[in-house]
Amino acid sequence: MTFESLGLHASIIKALTESGYTAPTGVQAQAIPAAIEGRDMMVSSQTGSGKTAAFMLPALHKFAVQSEQQQPEGGRTPNQEAQSARSRGDRPRFKAAQPKMLVLTPTRELALQVTTSTDKYGAFMKRVKAISILGGMPYPKQMQLLAKNPEILVATPGRLIDHMESGKIDFSELQILVLDEADRMLDMGFIDDIEKIVAATPEGRQTMLFSATLDGTVGTMAKRITKDPLVIQI
Ligand code: AMP
Repeated sequence: MTFESLGLHASIIKALTESGYTAPTGVQAQAIPAAIEGRDMMVSSQTGSGKTAAFMLPALHKFAVQSEQQQPEGGRTPNQEAQSARSRGDRPRFKAAQPKMLVLTPTRELALQVTTSTDKYGAFMKRVKAISILGGMPYPKQMQLLAKNPEILVATPGRLIDHMESGKIDFSELQILVLDEADRMLDMGFIDDIEKIVAATPEGRQTMLFSATLDGTVGTMAKRITKDPLVIQI
């Protein structure tokens, strides 16, 4: 099995080769083709199994294909629009970020790891920006990051809710939702925050949930928020 045979975009294959990855892990081999097709999934896998690439590579692939289908240099960020509105003398205002992908993680450390891996896997893509939104990070810094209108947000649930409620994030363009280490998020008491966040995302999104176990409460939640999911047990 090779990454090429999974159908990933050439820019991603290049990044994987540079990172020294020679072959997909078990979870990657099962999840990537189905995720490229747009399937929802519930995956039981441990840290160290290569689960980050299992959800991030197909997402980056999707964005690479979409950006090739659009105008080469098309699109301005909301804040470029806001800037020109200012130069027209309109009242300045912050336009909400409109991410295409949201990854929820239980901890700041995991969120930062996911963001770092995303930067590595997307290193040869023209425009794909991932940022972390974390509890404990100063608000002005987060506002600066959101103003770049990143495609990918990696967040812990509590802080994300703060930004959603103050109108800084708009999920109407969201295509992919990932819950990473979902069982740990539930153990940490994030169930209400997760429900609120999921409710703010479009019905037609692709949802991928990763968890050490798919039993009990996490399994019930997984079934509620996914549609016809592929179940992968590693
Ligand atoms: P994760 O389970 O996502 O935390 O990944 C565990 C570690 O495995 C990380 O350091 C990854 O960079 C690495 N890794 C993920 N997929 C592969 C692969 N296919 N080949 C080699 N290393 C990998």
